[in-house]
Amino acid sequence: MKILFAASEAVPFAKTGGLADVCGSLPGELAALGHDVALIMPAFRQIYRASRPIEPLGINIEVPIGAKTVRGELLRSHLDGDVPVYFVKQDEYYDRDGLYGDAGGDYKDNCERFVFYSRAVMDAIRLLDLQVDVLHAHDWMAALAVAYLANEYRAVPGYEQIASLFTIHNLAYQGTFWHWDMLLTGLDWKFFNWRQMEFYGNLNLMKTGLTFADMLNTVSPRYAEEIQSAPMGCGLEGLLHHRRNVLRGIVNGVDYAAWNPATDAHLPARYGVDDVAVGKAACKRALQEELGLPVRADVPLLGFIGRLADQKGLDLIEGVIGDWSDTSDVQWAFLGTGDMKYHRLLENIAQRHPERVAARLTFSEALAHRIEAGADMFLMPSRYEPCGLNQLYSLKYGTVPIVRATGGLVDTIVDVNDDSLSDGTATGFSFQENTAQAFSQTLRRAEAVYRTQPDVWQRIVANGMRQDWSWARSAQRYVDLYRQTISLRRKSPATAVR
Ligand code: ADP
Repeated sequence: MKILFAASEAVPFAKTGGLADVCGSLPGELAALGHDVALIMPAFRQIYRASRPIEPLGINIEVPIGAKTVRGELLRSHLDGDVPVYFVKQDEYYDRDGLYGDAGGDYKDNCERFVFYSRAVMDAIRLLDLQVDVLHAHDWMAALAVAYLANEYRAVPGYEQIASLFTIHNLAYQGTFWHWDMLLTGLDWKFFNWRQMEFYGNLNLMKTGLTFADMLNTVSPRYAEEIQSAPMGCGLEGLLHHRRNVLRGIVNGVDYAAWNPATDAHLPARYGVDDVAVGKAACKRALQEELGLPVRADVPLLGFIGRLADQKGLDLIEGVIGDWSDTSDVQWAFLGTGDMKYHRLLENIAQRHPERVAARLTFSEALAHRIEAGADMFLMPSRYEPCGLNQLYSLKYGTVPIVRATGGLVDTIVDVNDDSLSDGTATGFSFQENTAQAFSQTLRRAEAVYRTQPDVWQRIVANGMRQDWSWARSAQRYVDLYRQTISLRRKSPATAVR
């Protein structure tokens, strides 16, 4: 099959979140399965820092935007797995500090920037003479490409048979703009209605993708269910429920070349499931030293890595950490950046209890690896979690996840109880209620097993380390989904009326 990825981020070229991890890894996995894959993204300023050669192709593009014509050109490089990546270069739009905004907030012309990108994707298919079976578009930034395919390209030679898959990575970010931006899209005003592109008077690009793609998916089966009702549907639950017959969930994979304690160059000691006790003890000791915590083997060390945002359950952490750090002999290691109120919270608590709490409020890939290896437990009390990657890394590193049962965390972590212990599936501790009390009780439950049943703890650790969340199996699921998408398109009428 021939797959064209339309995504605004891909490792190693540009990244703000999990989208970039998926689009950096999945294309190479698909290529390894024998498929013909390419990716097209904007030529953001960041792409030149990836230290990969980027060549101009001498191919120009011209895109109508409202009443003007905007010019750009195409560049080429490659992703891991020798997958071609094409860049849409238009420096007025993309040669900026941030991908979508800066300290002043989102860029005011984001709609225009991604109209240009999406139209360029459609034009690039012809200009590069790409044969495409499936256009796989990701999140609101690429959503207009599937709208153009459905509404403008169905009768154009070379495009008639192209099927479209639209992937939701995080429904909370929808790309909403004032209604006059509809003029920039060049699409007919007839689509500006509450069933298709309009959302409470605004233009909504996420909704546009959900409306016009042949097939939809998100990054875990549970999140695919959750977004069909409020509040997880973020206002789009009605449409998602309406299209539930073409909505799927596929859990993201892990890049075990980067995240494997047996080979991880960031660690002071390497280990696998057979020598985890020794290896982890060495990593824990080194982490305590690095963070200035008392070096003690007997104290449980809890890790947290991630964006300091409400989504990640920082309010639940806020609700427990005061009491816990006053009264309980456990250590906490935080790594993250985000909301200032959480920066202050963690700074204050670390100052008050330097012997129990360490907070590094920065972005550090290396420290993230060392926390995954050195902590005993990993905290993810998320309010919602489309997939989540850190719990998957934690499993591999023998660090027992403590998670709220939401989204991908439900699909990937099996709660410790008598049944799951006896059938060998227990991998972590999970709780349902979004309250500090439920989180605290679950921490107590985990702490009790850690302190009083070390053999049970080691079994939970081993269960997690033996799991396989590699991309290979998720890539196979995407192949199946592409096949379904193609057959759905072949059965569909030529025009998109939904
Ligand atoms: P999301 O995409 O919602 O932010 P994910 O768990 O899917 O959450 O992926 C986030 C990725 O970014 C993980 O690999 C995580 O380890 C990494 N990350 C987040 N914050 C930091 C940080 N401060 N330092 C290092 N890595 C971080």
